Amino acid sequence: MTHKALIGIGSNLGLAAENCEKAISFLNNSESLQVTAHSSLYQSEPVGKKDQPWFVNGAVEVSTSLNPEQLLQHLLNIENQFGRKRKGKWGPRIIDLDILDYDGKIFNSETLTLPHPEMTQRRFVLEPLSEIAGSTIHPLEKKTILDLLKELPQKPLVKKLDAS
Ligand code: ADP
Ligand code: MG
Repeated sequence: MTHKALIGIGSNLGLAAENCEKAISFLNNSESLQVTAHSSLYQSEPVGKKDQPWFVNGAVEVSTSLNPEQLLQHLLNIENQFGRKRKGKWGPRIIDLDILDYDGKIFNSETLTLPHPEMTQRRFVLEPLSEIAGSTIHPLEKKTILDLLKELPQKPLVKKLDAS
């Protein structure tokens, strides 16, 4: 049985764009998971804690046989391969992999909340996600990703990263 999940990617330490690309290839390197679509990468102004580098963000769609908790563990393992050390909620990170949506499921445990609770407030999540899942309905808001994006203010800024 395969499932469809949407994953948000972010980095603001070291070569942030390369870190995001590398995370996508790590994701695709697993037998239990395939990347089926990916967005462009975006540069985004830090939210909350301003005195840190801009972030690079992207989103991917995956097809997977893993259940939600297994998928989360898989993402945490990839984060650990980058040597990520957790330093507070809004702090800089070499890589961040979040499950935004899993089969449109609504789920809540100590370690996992679905859909990701903050995605509706974050342009840096919705902007890349809208490229690959613009017409996907948010299971709680009952609105499309594109409509949710239109409701957000322009600031903090999110800009497409130059391909050059
Ligand atoms: P954040 O992504 O909010 O900046 P972290 O990446 O440090 O923070 O995540 C902290 C914890 O959030 C993870 O260890 C994980 O257990 C939990 N979590 C809850 N829901 C999700 C989700 N949908 N995707 C990823 N992590 C989640
Ligand atoms: Mg995270």
